[in-house]
Amino acid sequence: MANILVIAEHEDGQLKLATLSAVAFAAKAVSEAGGAFEILVLGSQVASIAEQLRSYGASAVLLADYGQLKDPLGDRYAQVIAEVVQQRGATMIAGAASTFSKDILPRAAALLDAGMLSDVIELRRDGDDFIFRRVMFAGNVIATVKLGGPIKFLTIRPAAFAHPEKRANASPVLNVVVEGDKLPALMEYVGREAKASGRPDSTEARVVVSGGRALKTAEDFERLIGGLADVLGGAIGSSRALVDSAITPNSLQVGQTGKIVAPELYIAVGISGAIQHLAGIKDSKVIVAINKDPDAPIFEVADFGLVGDAYQVVPELMEKLRK
Ligand SMILES: Cc1cc2nc3c(=O)[nH]c(=O)nc-3n(C[C@H](O)[C@H](O)[C@H](O)COP(=O)(O)OP(=O)(O)OC[C@H]3O[C@@H](n4cnc5c(N)ncnc54)[C@H](O)[C@@H]3O)c2cc1C
Repeated sequence: MANILVIAEHEDGQLKLATLSAVAFAAKAVSEAGGAFEILVLGSQVASIAEQLRSYGASAVLLADYGQLKDPLGDRYAQVIAEVVQQRGATMIAGAASTFSKDILPRAAALLDAGMLSDVIELRRDGDDFIFRRVMFAGNVIATVKLGGPIKFLTIRPAAFAHPEKRANASPVLNVVVEGDKLPALMEYVGREAKASGRPDSTEARVVVSGGRALKTAEDFERLIGGLADVLGGAIGSSRALVDSAITPNSLQVGQTGKIVAPELYIAVGISGAIQHLAGIKDSKVIVAINKDPDAPIFEVADFGLVGDAYQVVPELMEKLRK
């Protein structure tokens, strides 16, 4: 029997949709092995996040709502997760494969002396246990792994498990008791600098339009890549070439050392298709490439390709889409 704890992720009062893939993973494990899953929401004034998670089949949504958890500090969050795992007798802990999870879940696993697997894309029963498949080496290797020990920590690739349907029955919300003054306070959250953008985050968006070295200036990038993304209601991304040339900020980089995106539609404009860029877009459902070089490697992975000059083709495409 599986007893799974899913860690919810949220930012600025919004649930991160990647959480729902971890919920779908937990639901699948429970449907195969029996048992139940609960969802843990940590933060301050996050009751609305817990509310949103009540309709996905969890036996309970656990709410750790404390002022000390206002900012996602790894040491405090890890301790609360470790305590909740023990209180609830969880044997598997699942979070989205994200920067948040990368920071927090290994710390919680270490506190419990538990094993951890990241980037899980599949699971199957193996007697009383499970065998997992996970991606490694920028998506070029898929490993089949069995994890020992009574408690397992996992991060789940967002595109690997389709978001679950909402159910009519609402899960109860249970408050988690945390001894606030016993939480570690070695880290201090000083602040966050994030550019306000009306566009969705590339890791959450249904459509992502990315630009590469073909774009000569920040203005061109905004006009062509931003413009096309806006017509499609999508997010923007960039290759590292543009980040290195200071045309785009680091936060837009997609790839092995940037963000991993998994939209329904990924449009790569003037991007050659280097292996490090492809590592971040492999989970996209449909890839469209626009490149003036018909031999560009990006066409090998693209579902649709358009050979042409981005400066000519993209404005035409925007005009047609607007019509
Ligand atoms: C350790 C490591 C990690 C890395 N991590 C990342 C990462 O996370 N993300 C990432 O993107 N890269 C990463 N890189 C860099 C990667 O190897 C490539 O250098 C980079 O992706 C190239 O970016 P690009 O495709 O924009 O540029 P280029 O490779 O120079 O390609 C530009 C493309 O634009 C086309 N083009 C030019 N002009 C036009 C035009 N007017 N219209 C249409 N097409 C045009 C060209 O034909 C060409 O195909 C990493 C490299 C290393 C070593």
